[in-house]
Amino acid sequence: MGGFGSGRWPDVVNRKIPVEMCRCLSIKQLNDADLLDDGRSGHVSWVNTGGKEIGKIDFVISGGKDGKLHLKTGGQVIDIIRSPCNYGGFRHWFVCPRGCKAMKLYLPPKTEFFACRNCYDLSRLSVQENHKRDRTAKHLESADLENLTVSQALRLGNL
Ligand SMILES: [Zn+2]
Repeated sequence: MGGFGSGRWPDVVNRKIPVEMCRCLSIKQLNDADLLDDGRSGHVSWVNTGGKEIGKIDFVISGGKDGKLHLKTGGQVIDIIRSPCNYGGFRHWFVCPRGCKAMKLYLPPKTEFFACRNCYDLSRLSVQENHKRDRTAKHLESADLENLTVSQALRLGNL
């Protein structure tokens, strides 16, 4: 299996893609669903604005003995670490393939690996000025990307 760093870094780093267009994995969502434990599994699916499912991944969680978990999905294994909270308990973090700690990892269109927002240099539609938004929309249109925004549903499996 080729690692994330072994291949060509996707073209997406050279053009600003808004996070709204990316499929997102949220550590909070996994935590809220009580999935951050050895042997848990489930899937995350994403729908476009028309409600059509446009992507789905299955994942399995393993590990935990040393406080470190691994989320395996497709060809990618994402490490999950934890750090103590100020108010007790632990907070979980994804470890981005480039080593960053992140609460959310993103899968931009036409890419195969989840990474953090910084590594993909993602922008946010909502904080861009209007004319920039138009330009982005046009750019995205020309890139033949079918979905401007993606929402997601987390479902639990094999529990
Ligand atoms: Zn990163």
